[in-house]
Amino acid sequence: MANKSVYPTSDICYPLKMRNIISYQIEGKSMATRKVEKTDAEWRAELSPEVYHITREKGTERAFTGAYWDHKGDGVYRCVACGEPLFDSDTKYDSGSGWPSFYKPIDDEKIEEEEDHSLWMKRTEVTCSSCGAHLGHVFEDGPQPTGLRYCINSAALKFEEDRDE
Ligand SMILES: [Zn+2]
Repeated sequence: MANKSVYPTSDICYPLKMRNIISYQIEGKSMATRKVEKTDAEWRAELSPEVYHITREKGTERAFTGAYWDHKGDGVYRCVACGEPLFDSDTKYDSGSGWPSFYKPIDDEKIEEEEDHSLWMKRTEVTCSSCGAHLGHVFEDGPQPTGLRYCINSAALKFEEDRDE
């Protein structure tokens, strides 16, 4: 069993938004890909086991256990894996779900959405478009103005307080 991944539909088949994208050489193959492209071994070495599981294996932290579900403060929530700014604290709200919830991303280009049929549900998975990290899911039961709820794992985010304003 050389390949021990139990997630066969991993991170390679997302539609890419070709924007500000740098081509990287990985193992001799030229890949016109994401801004941040690393091998599984590199991600595994770089991320904590929990963060690796959530962002690279599409895991989910338990509700009410993450660092940010009840977190307040003005600033930006960045992708924990690549540092891209993904969500603004102005769009964070208390959904009661136990996960940090936002009604929109900083920029639609920053995230990718894809249908997810795992766990016998039809959901929409949200990933970081820069590095492909799994972030969480988006549901259509959020507040106005979008009516969307981006239900994101705390472990996929890194909060940076806004000190300028
Ligand atoms: Zn990222």
